[in-house]
Amino acid sequence: MKIIRAKARNPFGKTKIPGAKFVVNQYIGCEHGCRYCYAKFMCKWYDYGEWGKWVIVRENLPELVKGRFVSGWVYMSSVSDAYQPIEAEVKLTRRILRNMNKNIKLRILTKSNLVLRDLDLLKKFRCMEVGLTINSFDEELRKEIEPNTPNMEKRFKALKKLHDAGIRNYGFISPVIPTLTDLDYIIEQTKDFVEYYIIEFLNLKASGDFRSWLKENYPRSYKILIDQAMLDQVISKIHRILAKHKVRVEGIVIHPQSL
Ligand code: SF4
Repeated sequence: MKIIRAKARNPFGKTKIPGAKFVVNQYIGCEHGCRYCYAKFMCKWYDYGEWGKWVIVRENLPELVKGRFVSGWVYMSSVSDAYQPIEAEVKLTRRILRNMNKNIKLRILTKSNLVLRDLDLLKKFRCMEVGLTINSFDEELRKEIEPNTPNMEKRFKALKKLHDAGIRNYGFISPVIPTLTDLDYIIEQTKDFVEYYIIEFLNLKASGDFRSWLKENYPRSYKILIDQAMLDQVISKIHRILAKHKVRVEGIVIHPQSL
């Protein structure tokens, strides 16, 4: 793993991410190395090699957030995972949380149960939401397409522990890949301790070479994603499952899939 140490000028960047006004990116690049990652486009801007093999650590962010306040939701992080493996060692996210104004409305999305390490700090925020990206990929598939992530069991348990600790949580069911994502199972496993869900279909357009990988390895999944009539059937089924479980859903994101 190539680690690049850098300094940021501004801790809060403006964002167009739905539901957020600002973003904090203490890392750029992500060791989780998901094959479908929408942030792979960063490789065009940073010439450090393959996505998942490098991380820029913006080491002055804990100092930069001190004494700053921004109004509106702040999202952490949009081009990395705040709790990727290196965080266990450098504790950058932890130091940012410690120094950040606790009146800032903060939403963190991660694939890692490492977030539980910071429960003590998360509890201090007036408005805090923590989401775990969850799916129903079996272990073989997870290792293939999300190679360095904690397994689903750990993510489900993390959601439960956040709930038990009184932290508002959400399940980000993503990427939904027809025939590979079992929404009924995911909701059955988590609905007792998840506040709300956001559901996002795979973004083929932003997934780079994952598109051809999916086409080759799971042709039916690919076909459904690019065929509007077939996709509509999957969406109808999702609505039936959601109605059956009576869970709160804040959004279903369906990307235009044509190139
Ligand atoms: S965890 Fe998120 S940011 Fe990291 S590689 Fe996976 S999709 Fe990309």
